[in-house]
Amino acid sequence: MSIISLDKEFVAGTYGRFPVELVSGKGCILTDVNGKEYIDLTSGIGVTSFGIADEAWVQAITAQAMKLQHSSNLYYTEPCAKLAQFLCQKTGMKKVFFCNSGAEANECAIKVARKYSAEKKGAEHYTIITLVNSFHGRTLTTLAATGQDHFHQYFQPLTPGFAYVQANNIAMLEEMVATVKPAAIMFECVQGEGGVLPLNKEFICAAEKLCKEQDIPLIIDEVQTGNGRTGKLYSYMHFGITPDIVSTAKGLGGGLPIGATLMSEKVQSVLGPGDHGSTYGGNPVCSAGALSIMQRLDDAFLAEVQRKSDYVFSALQGAPGIESVTGLGLMIGIQTAKPAKDVVNACIEKGVLALTAKTKVRLLPALNIPMEQLETAIETIKAVCKEETL
Ligand SMILES: *Cc1c(COP(=O)(O)O)cnc(C)c1O
Repeated sequence: MSIISLDKEFVAGTYGRFPVELVSGKGCILTDVNGKEYIDLTSGIGVTSFGIADEAWVQAITAQAMKLQHSSNLYYTEPCAKLAQFLCQKTGMKKVFFCNSGAEANECAIKVARKYSAEKKGAEHYTIITLVNSFHGRTLTTLAATGQDHFHQYFQPLTPGFAYVQANNIAMLEEMVATVKPAAIMFECVQGEGGVLPLNKEFICAAEKLCKEQDIPLIIDEVQTGNGRTGKLYSYMHFGITPDIVSTAKGLGGGLPIGATLMSEKVQSVLGPGDHGSTYGGNPVCSAGALSIMQRLDDAFLAEVQRKSDYVFSALQGAPGIESVTGLGLMIGIQTAKPAKDVVNACIEKGVLALTAKTKVRLLPALNIPMEQLETAIETIKAVCKEETL
């Protein structure tokens, strides 16, 4: 039986997979079961920050796996403590809670905000204001945070206490803050799953100002935008704001599951013993891998990410069959004249892997993708978009 039919028979049908069986890779080149090679512009949805089988990352995780692969959170381990220190030093945050995914990082952020606001202002201050068209995860609470009705279908009742405002609508945000007794405002600076849409700077700054004035924790979801993806260490750093809580995951681990919730001075003491926990959270192997990734995201490296981003934007903007290009850094959305799914399928044929987000083709290449491979892949996308018929 082929792996594809085996998967179809025994794996829950939650994914619309492409008909490609991947077996190995190196850097940004993936190889399928037939030996066909692909240039990867997906990085496992923004996860393999330094590509496949990156040597420093493999070295970090294998060395740790041979020493101590897991210990539970009843004891102290070095990789977890060092990663937390590194994240705090780079962001000015004061405490980190580790978990295993983006949804869990957001769950923790929401718990911190609710406890902070309940203690400070009263238990009725529980509502988390999020944005229409946002994406925050698949658990019942992070689905509630996700401002897209179609994700909510079939799973009611979701966790109560969420309210949605239109992205970039400052008046609507002010009105919501005045009516719901908020526990937090939470958003992605670039809506990823929503179509790679950066928010306006004015809106981001107005939200921060409201939060500061009214002592409302500001949560920035950096699950997709974080860890160098947008050309800064975290996307909020483009806008000159200081969030109270930052959640991240995806690219943090470079390919092993790890999520983190960063807490500023204001909320650093909210969680006490027993308030939250995770069996795997801060796992030594995942943390050692994450530290190896994070330590390499210095200013010179991030400038390279930005340079590659500039190249992609200028290569694609105005090209035949391409209507618009949006995004920040190496998080790029392309509105194509043809349906995005058709473009992605044609690219697979030609040996390039890309993603979609809503009606767009979405690119999230490894941050260190070699310029030559990036150029070849972008030329392929341009050729596919230009073709009269598919
Ligand atoms: C992917 C994503 C999540 C969910 O992360 P998981 O690791 O799949 O739970 C949450 N927020 C944003 C912005 C994301 O892109």
